[in-house]
Amino acid sequence: MQQYKSCHLLEHGIYFYYDSIQVCCFLTGKLGTPFWLTKDYKGQKIDWDALCGQLREIREKNKQGIVDPHCEGCFNLKEDSWDEEEYFSNFYISHWTRCNCNCKYCYTEENKKFFNSHKEYKMMPILQEMIERKLLRFNGYLAYGGGEPACLDEFDDITELFLENNVRSIVTNSSGIKPVKSILKGIPTGRLDVTVSVDCSDRETYKKIKQIDAYDRVMDTLKMYAAAQTENKTLVRSKYIIIPDVNDTEKGIENWLEQTVDIGLKQVCIDIEGRWYLPRKNNVPEHIANLIALVERRTKELGLGLFYYSYADQFRFDRDKKLAEQNQ
Ligand code: SF4
Ligand code: SF4
Repeated sequence: MQQYKSCHLLEHGIYFYYDSIQVCCFLTGKLGTPFWLTKDYKGQKIDWDALCGQLREIREKNKQGIVDPHCEGCFNLKEDSWDEEEYFSNFYISHWTRCNCNCKYCYTEENKKFFNSHKEYKMMPILQEMIERKLLRFNGYLAYGGGEPACLDEFDDITELFLENNVRSIVTNSSGIKPVKSILKGIPTGRLDVTVSVDCSDRETYKKIKQIDAYDRVMDTLKMYAAAQTENKTLVRSKYIIIPDVNDTEKGIENWLEQTVDIGLKQVCIDIEGRWYLPRKNNVPEHIANLIALVERRTKELGLGLFYYSYADQFRFDRDKKLAEQNQ
């Protein structure tokens, strides 16, 4: 088998977005633009021969050492003996935007035109056709974007199709306002995880951020999900996105962590609101850095696992690098 630079998505991945089909959702390569396979996609019949041909062409170039500019410099590229078979096993499904809340930081907020009004195309017929063509395998993962699972009619059908075929893992994000049948079914299998953005510890702040009065319902859903966990206790996570001037208080974070423990969760996620963070990433105010340090210290004391989401992860990476340089 030939060794060459590629990635698990170029080999066997596909990303269904609300207006396109892409190889991946990363913008980490030199171009910094999405790696489109089909732009302006709205559910038209897919020419699988052409689409697989596009991917084959990219892989053939990789074999000759010519890396696509979309991928140049991407952390996902690695030299390996990639298998030669043509199939898709790493899915990212983010073809819907409907939701039962309206977070201030949601990407659909930037374009009010499609918040809760964009009609998604159907995914199940696409997956059925992939099965018929022997293009779909269940030895990888399914990651959802979206949109809220409870607002997608096909969510249970898609999830159950992957669960019944023993997919390795399913990653879901949900508002938690309404429990979702297939999420509840997936948690005890140990192969489905769910992250719920709570972002606060009280009804009033929740209303301010999510523009709906549903804090108590979210906590009930989280309790229900926590109770469905079996031996693997870190499949249900509560997330806190620090939004300066909205929920950036020590008390808010302390209460959130304590409530998380009370409802039986074992892991939390932390993030920083992206539109605020990006222009300040080289000069993050001490107050925000201290809040991250507080989360790190208190999760240790409370025995909670801590998962850093995108901007918090970037913040941690930059902070730790700077500290290491200073200590040299
Ligand atoms: S190498 Fe990076 S940019 Fe290229 S397909 Fe893989 S994840 Fe996407
Ligand atoms: S829960 Fe997610 S999809 Fe819904 S409004 Fe919030 S960020 Fe957007």
